[in-house]
Amino acid sequence: MTSDLNRSDAVREAATAAVPSALADLGSLVRIPSIAFPGFDPAQVQRSAEAVKALAEATGVFDSVRIADAEIPDAGERGMPAVLATRAARNGRPTILLYAHHDVQPVGDESLWESPPFEPTVRDGRLYGRGAADDKAGVMAHIGALRAFTEAVGADFDLGVALFIEGEEEAGSRSFAQFLSDHADALRADVIVVADSGNWDSKTPALTVSLRGNTRFTLRVRTLEHASHSGMFGGAVPDAMMATVTLLSTLWDESGAVAVEGLTERDAATPEYSEETLRDEAGLPAGVSPTGTGTILSRIWNKPSITVTGIDAPSVANASNTLSPEVSVVISARVAPGQDAHDAYAAIEAHLRAHAPFGAELEFSHQDYGNPFLVDTSGWAVADARDALGAAYGVEPVDMGVGGSIPFIADLVREFPGAQILVTGVEDPHARAHSPNESLHLDTFRNALVAEALLLERLDGRTV
Ligand SMILES: [Zn+2]
Repeated sequence: MTSDLNRSDAVREAATAAVPSALADLGSLVRIPSIAFPGFDPAQVQRSAEAVKALAEATGVFDSVRIADAEIPDAGERGMPAVLATRAARNGRPTILLYAHHDVQPVGDESLWESPPFEPTVRDGRLYGRGAADDKAGVMAHIGALRAFTEAVGADFDLGVALFIEGEEEAGSRSFAQFLSDHADALRADVIVVADSGNWDSKTPALTVSLRGNTRFTLRVRTLEHASHSGMFGGAVPDAMMATVTLLSTLWDESGAVAVEGLTERDAATPEYSEETLRDEAGLPAGVSPTGTGTILSRIWNKPSITVTGIDAPSVANASNTLSPEVSVVISARVAPGQDAHDAYAAIEAHLRAHAPFGAELEFSHQDYGNPFLVDTSGWAVADARDALGAAYGVEPVDMGVGGSIPFIADLVREFPGAQILVTGVEDPHARAHSPNESLHLDTFRNALVAEALLLERLDGRTV
């Protein structure tokens, strides 16, 4: 027992000491604009994969480190490069799979960034940059924890480790399921750590135990065969904008809650979370009211939501007095835990068809689905993870739901039904992942790295 305590202290000490170099390497990764979306330079994603591969090799813990990809089903093209590294378990010890992704979201309107998105910049205890949190910090938490664990116990440990750093998570993980089946032997593990979520706040760690799913699609609304002068026929025929606005407004009730029959919600208790915290974390001004009903966290974790995320229509600069014949919108919906994403999509499509005003012609395309997920929290890996988080942060972890989606977790469970899944992360509520001024809270990163190193230490003491 004494020696175990000493070992755990040594790991903690090495992990704390590993933080500055992990942050320096994180800065180098942030400088690479690894956006895997169509229309961006794929060479940057390759560069970023090579940088991660070099970091994995330098840990000295893996038997094999390579860059790998997989075919995108029905697309006739390969997915983006991932990094895959493996080390076999010995003496009956478990294997842990460490997942993160090295691709990032596009930067959006660059003028909204207070410092350049690919120039890592520290301000007020946070590291700013695209990918500084989501999810290059997840990559460096894994690498830093492996470095620290090796530093403390030597490279000769028994724990099996697989490292899988995906290159297309933000772009929809299109080859993910294929990748899992192509590389199943390398990826098979007893415990899977998905380091791509967040924490309760900057001081309190969390295990993410429920995730909403999502469905997204493009809707084209057509009401006229061609455009006309709005003074000629306005008032007698519907223009597509009027039909679209009328139709979209039926998606929500007066409280702003989703009003689509067939979308389900999950009945589960949620922790206390005040409107004041919501205002602070979401940037909701005093005069604007929140939407929905029920506890605030039930609205975000357990109920569906619908957002119009894009619209193709004449721009303000090009606005002329014209009746638009057609308008296209992108609708993105979050699906409550417990509902299949395809069923949720079917309910929304049926709702829109039933409410199309004036017989407007609707066309649906580019459907995309991700299933929600509930984590089984009964296994020993969850107990070890809670221990490690509590020890690293000095605060007991919270079981958290998140309103976002990590659809590939359903793929992981399908491919590896016996594995215990731990959804962890380096983000805090102010990280602004996907938005301008994304940032990493430096204390949270340190605690996350220490917690992961302590988790490795605990799992290395388990037999399976
Ligand atoms: Zn992410």
